[in-house]
Amino acid sequence: MRSEPIVALFILDENGEGDWRLGGASRWWLHHALSDLKNELEAIGLKLVIHKGPSHEVLKAVLADTGGGAVYWNRRYEPQVIQRDQKIKTALSADGCDVQSFNAALLFEPWEIKNKAGKPFQVFTPYWKHCLFQLRPEPVTVDIKEARGFDHGIRSLAIGELNLLPTINWDHGFYEFWEPTAKSVRERLEVFASVGAADYATMRDRPDCNGTSKLSPFLHWGQIGPREVFAAFERHGTTNQKSARKYLAEIGWREFSYHLLYHFPHLPDEPLREEFAHFPWTLNEEFLGAWQKGATGYPIVDAGMRELWATGWMHNRVRMVVASLLVKHLQIHWREGARWFWDTLVDADLASNTQGWQWTAGCGADASPYFRVFNPILQGKKFDPDGDYVRHWIPEIAHLSTEVIHEPWKVRDKDYPDPIVDHKEGRARALFAYEKLKAMRA
Ligand code: FAD
Repeated sequence: MRSEPIVALFILDENGEGDWRLGGASRWWLHHALSDLKNELEAIGLKLVIHKGPSHEVLKAVLADTGGGAVYWNRRYEPQVIQRDQKIKTALSADGCDVQSFNAALLFEPWEIKNKAGKPFQVFTPYWKHCLFQLRPEPVTVDIKEARGFDHGIRSLAIGELNLLPTINWDHGFYEFWEPTAKSVRERLEVFASVGAADYATMRDRPDCNGTSKLSPFLHWGQIGPREVFAAFERHGTTNQKSARKYLAEIGWREFSYHLLYHFPHLPDEPLREEFAHFPWTLNEEFLGAWQKGATGYPIVDAGMRELWATGWMHNRVRMVVASLLVKHLQIHWREGARWFWDTLVDADLASNTQGWQWTAGCGADASPYFRVFNPILQGKKFDPDGDYVRHWIPEIAHLSTEVIHEPWKVRDKDYPDPIVDHKEGRARALFAYEKLKAMRA
């Protein structure tokens, strides 16, 4: 236990993020989360010190300026960040500094969980069963009323000097949709853990209803941790309700994504199932552009892509549908979709995004088989039965009746494109490409 004054330090080390520098929507979130953190720290008497540049250089300079003897941080799990942080740990320790890192982001360290053969899991259900068996409630919060900060003349950038906010007029909708503060996520979790999750099992697939927790950006940015989520359900005595178990299993998918990324660090670029390295992907820039803009002619897909652009978030069911159209009907490489999501999601997360794309493309762990091609019309009818979600995001067709809202090409009176690919043809092409892949391997 140490009792020296603390420097609360944030370093923006863009090169240290490797190939996955922060996307635009992530930068927006980070700007506001830092402002909130600054306020929370000030309330307990600490100043948030901000620097920009290579983490190791900054740390050395701050240690020299302050005469500090210890550096503590919470671990991150992106492969290139792990490498960077390990080098820093080794170098600072060699200089006599007390360096320690901790787990705040996950329920389990990815290396702690192994199957009976001592190998990483590649199938979710046994993975999660194993995790639940091991799960022990742990204390999750420390109520700090006051802290002793070292800030005598210590230099710091202002948050604005990090230039995180977009220079184009893109983010106005984000402000209506999000309050990226620790207080707001604590409130959100309380509501969800006490009553909100009651309908989760039945409503979680409905983008027209407010049926999911929208905790993903807060979990990604560490404004709340999964152990706090579990503790909230325990506190409300709801952990064993059917809906709550389903919800907590989704937190399990997040854990599973980190487990996979840690054990298979090539996944952001390469498929887990090696045969997919030879898949005949195509790149049609016009189709990719139409998909990104929400102009594919399939209302459920376009509503999702417009929701993403306007709010930095998209409903999970719709993420699966838009991803499926890109990788199956349009046969565009899943990496193109993952990169677009990376830039536009406020919850862009290397583990979950990679897992989500590889799952949809059929090339990941426990993935949806490639031959299962979502029908965007039926998905719309099933999960947005009254068309409210589509009407909200595509005002051009808001006047159409519920009977045709998911097939607007059936009416003339609309200012909206026809589908860029026919569903049946797209499906047949996807299946043909898959057969070709199988034949190549035979
Ligand atoms: P809830 O339904 O309320 O779920 C609670 C929490 O569980 C979420 O906040 C999230 O942390 C976790 N979770 C839920 N579903 C999943 C899942 N399928 N995989 C991993 N974790 C999950 N999630 C991200 O956090 N970041 C991403 O970059 C991301 N990219 C995705 C890309 C694709 C193609 C797909 C299909 C899914 C992706 N997801 C991603 C997973 C999922 O869509 C989001 O976590 C979810 O929509 C967030 O909304 P929510 O917080 O309301 O979720």
